[in-house]
Formats: sequence, C-alpha cells, structure tokens
Amino acid sequence: MTRQLLVAGGGIGGLAAAVAAARAGWEVRLYEQAQAFAEVGAGLQLGPNATRILQAWGQGGALQRLASFPERLVARSARSGRELGRLPLGARCLKRYGAPYATLHRSDLHELLLRAVQAGGATHLHLDSPVERFEQVPEGVQLAWADGRIVEGDALVGADGVWSAVREQLLADGPAPPTGHLAYRALLPMADVPAALRTLEVSAWLGPRLHVVSYPVCGGEQLNLVVIVQGTPPEEHRVWDEPGLAEDVQQALAGCCPALQDLARAASAWGRWSLCDRAPLSGPSQMAQGRVALLGDAAHPMRPFLAQGAAMALEDAAELGRCLGPVQDLQLALPAALGRYAVQRWQRVAQVQARSRRNGEVFHATGLQRLGRDLGLGLLGRRLMDLPWLYGHTA
Ligand SMILES: Cc1cc2nc3c(=O)[nH]c(=O)nc-3n(C[C@H](O)[C@H](O)[C@H](O)COP(=O)(O)OP(=O)(O)OC[C@H]3O[C@@H](n4cnc5c(N)ncnc54)[C@H](O)[C@@H]3O)c2cc1C
Repeated sequence: MTRQLLVAGGGIGGLAAAVAAARAGWEVRLYEQAQAFAEVGAGLQLGPNATRILQAWGQGGALQRLASFPERLVARSARSGRELGRLPLGARCLKRYGAPYATLHRSDLHELLLRAVQAGGATHLHLDSPVERFEQVPEGVQLAWADGRIVEGDALVGADGVWSAVREQLLADGPAPPTGHLAYRALLPMADVPAALRTLEVSAWLGPRLHVVSYPVCGGEQLNLVVIVQGTPPEEHRVWDEPGLAEDVQQALAGCCPALQDLARAASAWGRWSLCDRAPLSGPSQMAQGRVALLGDAAHPMRPFLAQGAAMALEDAAELGRCLGPVQDLQLALPAALGRYAVQRWQRVAQVQARSRRNGEVFHATGLQRLGRDLGLGLLGRRLMDLPWLYGHTA
C-alpha cells in the first residue's frame, strides 16, 4: 500500500520531514514556493540533540565534511571583552552526549538534507508551488493552487515557516508578532578576522541591551557574526546587503570593547532580520489536528537565543517519522499517529521556546541583573552553560 505525505515548504524543516517520512516508508510530495531550493542567511549552531539525528539518518560523514566543530563556548562581556565563563565542547561533548556540537552555513545543512532526500528516492520535489489552501476530505487532504491544480495525499505537514499559510488555515491565530529585536548577520573570510579572534570557538558577547554571537562556518574558512539589538521592527522584515546596515551595527556597538568593534568593522556586507516569535505552545492541538501537522517554525517560531530553531525542526521530523512508520490503517491510525507526534513534541518545544525567551533577558540584562549574571557565569559558568535536558534528548 502506498502512503502519501504532502509537505508544504522546502526549508530545513520540510526537507527533514521528507527524509524522515521516506525512511519510514512513505512517498512524499513536497511543495516549495521558491523557484529554486536555497537558504538565505548565514550560520547555524547545531547541538548534539540535532547532530545525533543527522547521524542516525546516515549523514554523519557529510556533516563531518561540511561543518566546523568548535572546541568551546565562551561567554564574554561585550563591554570589556573579559571572559565570563566557558563550556568545553569538542571531545567533551562527544563523550558526554555521543554526538558533536557543530556550526555550519545554513545552505550547507540545506544541501545536505536535499541530497539525503534525493538519495532516498521516494520524494517528488515541486518548486514554484506556493501552497494557498488545503481541505481535509474523508479520504485524506487536498491541496489546491490558484491555477486549478489539485493534489491529494493521505496527510499534510505544514513546514512553511514563520509565515505559514497552513498554520493560518489550521489555527487562524494571526501572524507571529515581532519580538522587538533586530538581528544583523554577516559572514567574514577568516583571513579578515583580527588574529586574536581567529579561534575555533563559539563566542557569546553579552552586553546590556544587546548580544553578539560569532563562530566558524564553512569548515573554518568563514566566521559567522550575529549582532542582536533591541529596536523598533522596520516595515521590511528582512533586508540583505543594504547600504547603511554597517553604520547601524557600528553605532549599536559604540559602547562595546575595541575587539568587538574591530570584528564588526571587518565585515563588508550585513543582512538585517526583524525577529518574531510566539508564546510557548500550550497543547498538542497546536501541532496537529486530524490529518494535518505543523513542523518547525510553522509550529513554534522561537527567538534564536538558544540556537535551537532548526534543531527543533530536525527533532520534530525525527518524531514524525517514528509516528508515521507503523501506520497502516489510514482512516483511524493516521490521525492518531499525528496526534501522538504532537503529544510527544509540544512540551519539549514549549520548554525550548520559554528558555529562549529567558536567555534573551539574561543576555541583554542591565544594572544589578547584569552584575549578577556576570558573577554567576564566573562562579558557575560550566554548570550554567551545559544543558543536559536539551542536548541529551533522544527522539
Ligand atoms: C538570527 C537567527 C539565528 C538563528 N540561529 C540558529 C541556530 O544557531 N541554530 C538553530 O537550530 N536555529 C537557528 N535559527 C532558527 C532557524 O533558522 C529556524 O528555526 C529554521 O530555519 C526553521 O526552518 P523551517 O524549515 O521550519 O522554516 P524556514 O526555514 O522558514 O523554511 C520554510 C520554507 O517554506 C517555504 N514556504 C513558505 N510559505 C510557503 C507556501 N505557502 N508554500 C510553499 N512553500 C512555502 C519557504 O520559502 C521556505 O523555503 C536562527 C534564526 C535566526 C533568525
């Protein structure tokens, strides 16, 4: 019996869903609105909870070739540059969690997943296909396009990102609101990075009202730099390489240490994102209803302050595959399987969403709270920065 899964969206979450479903024996039809598969943006950190999944999908070798594997995570004061605390990663992470802590370019992860999808052979990829509406019918789910095209499958996964059309129809809860943070992102050739900062580490520079994260990508050839400030959301949600962004960044970093200012000056092109999120999930019906499930940012857009949005999409996909695998009776067992997926996922994701919000408050703390943060990291750095509940998770 052929079991057909429709997937809306071909980002990291949609491709991961396709890999997991195909591995579970499903045929997948994936619809992406863009005319080509591509990922904009810059870098990603992937904790061992995410790299473990890629390894289980046979992608450990590809990850090894594409990613960097930082030796430590170092928290620094953005004002003074002083080290506040550190967490060894590298070999310690492998030993403790059985999987590496990786940093890589988003397009490298996207490409890795696309190749895994193509190698699996059970997925039909359709570009230039923006999903507008779906209908749950007695035999399954139908997708309809403006040109009159209709396709039908047994279930639908909405992996269409933070502005998800599938979510809007399923939950009708309006667009994800802006958080009041702007993320400026740049990639620097490692050769242009000031020598003292050319290290194999993830650095988090914590300020009052801002923070900066840097780490190597592209096998260490480039440094990914993200500056997150508080500010009014501009009308344009995402702009890339626009004149004036470099000046904005330098102005934001005016009170920071010279090393950080030098680092930002070494970047030639910046992109700016206005961040959006939603409140932590409050129940499984926000992730699946009937034969329709949500996955990744469509289900739970979060602040990137725990570096876990893509990791949660990978975890969702792995769980989805596990739940879909045994389904034979499409009428009864399929909605139950998607319900199980949602039950297994929602509390875990809600915890990550809540912790991401909390991290933002800590990273941007001012006054006495900031002093307490710096003192706490100095005394308990490793204990505060290591997160076994997060990194030790297995789907
Ligand atoms: C500054 C920043 C830093 C981050 N850092 C990290 C990090 O270090 N680690 C980490 O794990 N996560 C990080 N994230 C989060 C991560 O980028 C996202 O959680 C992840 O990319 C979500 O993937 P997705 O596939 O769910 O959504 P998306 O990547 O948004 O993909 C959605 C796809 O659906 C397509 N689409 C949209 N609408 C339709 C439609 N109607 N029909 C068909 N296709 C459609 C889009 O074109 C897109 O290809 C960060 C995010 C930001 C903003």
